Amino acid sequence: DLSIGTFCHESGHLLCRFPDLYDYGSRDGDFEKSAGMGYYCLMSAGNHLNNGRTPASICGYLRDLVGWCDRQVRLNSPGVYESKQGDYGTLMKYETHRANEYFIIENRTQRGLDAYLPDSGLAVYHCDTLGSNEWQGGTRERHYQCGLLQADGHLDLESNRNQGDSTDLFKRVDGVALSYATTPSTRGWDSSDSGLALADISEPGEVIRLKVGSLVPSNVVTGKVTADLLIPDNKREGISSAIAISQAGKVKSLSVGVDITHTYIGDLQVELQSPSGKKVLLHDRAGGSRRDLQQTYSSSSTTALSALNGELIAGYWLLNVRDLASRDIGRLNRWNIEIEYESAGQVARGEVSPNLSIPDNTPTGISSAIAIAQSGTLKDISVGVVIPHTYIGDLLVEIVAPSGQSVTLHNMSGGSKDDLRMTYDRTSTPALEALVGQQIQGNWSLRVKDLQRLDTGKLEKWSLQLMY
Ligand SMILES: [Zn+2]
Repeated sequence: DLSIGTFCHESGHLLCRFPDLYDYGSRDGDFEKSAGMGYYCLMSAGNHLNNGRTPASICGYLRDLVGWCDRQVRLNSPGVYESKQGDYGTLMKYETHRANEYFIIENRTQRGLDAYLPDSGLAVYHCDTLGSNEWQGGTRERHYQCGLLQADGHLDLESNRNQGDSTDLFKRVDGVALSYATTPSTRGWDSSDSGLALADISEPGEVIRLKVGSLVPSNVVTGKVTADLLIPDNKREGISSAIAISQAGKVKSLSVGVDITHTYIGDLQVELQSPSGKKVLLHDRAGGSRRDLQQTYSSSSTTALSALNGELIAGYWLLNVRDLASRDIGRLNRWNIEIEYESAGQVARGEVSPNLSIPDNTPTGISSAIAIAQSGTLKDISVGVVIPHTYIGDLLVEIVAPSGQSVTLHNMSGGSKDDLRMTYDRTSTPALEALVGQQIQGNWSLRVKDLQRLDTGKLEKWSLQLMY
């Protein structure tokens, strides 16, 4: 019975102290069995594939823990990435604001060591070094150490229905595949938005391409109005009702709901007009003698609406309604609009790896600059820092805009914890709001001070992302 699969699995325990990633049903105060990582890791049930003759590879989570991945691709910068099947020296990781919790993505196309996996495509793992694969519940307190975000959303591994099936991995997806709002989602175990979004994933293959990050997430803005306007009979000018949208962005898709009372809808023409003046007919004297027009028109059902894709959304959206025949009359009761939009802004980025030692207990500290060449007014900012240190309660970290205005990112909190690996944005650090409206061009600096004796560290690298 000693197959190569079992030999490799047990050697993983002996040589690397790998934990089992299946669920015993008897550890860590949890007595319910689940499948853990199922067939998707050698250290779970992957050793049994092809009757133990072609065991699965070791998942990226474990390879990373034992330091086998020399090339680390940090997915926190938005962009287009490529993941290569069998490239076991590379790890693609998205960090959350907690050092112990992160996401790993990996190409698990059915080739080489993964030839016998139940599925083929891109794998996404939700990792927490403080979790346990005994804990299938997925709650804030008790969740897996390394779990596969099964693309089908069925949670078959957690509920022990199988060890993997043919809809667990991400195959080709055009548009958003995984985000805060999808099932499964990229929320943290505390339900917060991790910010990770994946889109435009290519077919399974030796190389899988995908889009990561804030390039892709879309947002929705809505507006409604109770117009209560009489539609003048047989008058070409008709009536207009406006909904004001203050959000900046570009239309990705939209839908419009219309509620009109009328005794003969074949008289009616209903038109949506964007803030720039572009018009799309929603209803053009159809429906004959039918009464009342209560309908929702969406980009997916009303192809004409897609003419508005890419329009700037801020400003007044108008609904124009005309009655073009005599006799029958009616009124526009209410209407609403829902716009899915994407950022109309641009992004400037910088990253440096100064590797500067932070002088112990010295109020001057160190400073490192990132020069931004683009010019514009800041709309949003995020700052990523990697500061290995043996006591982060010693540290004061500030970001300084080209104008000299500064915002404190880390103010001697965290006590004796090691290493500051964080991305600060306006959600985590509302004080960053103070920089909105600043000119982005020039040198942005990160100031780091160690204000207590004894423990030391260095500024390994930091990054800046400016929306303008
Ligand atoms: Zn084992």
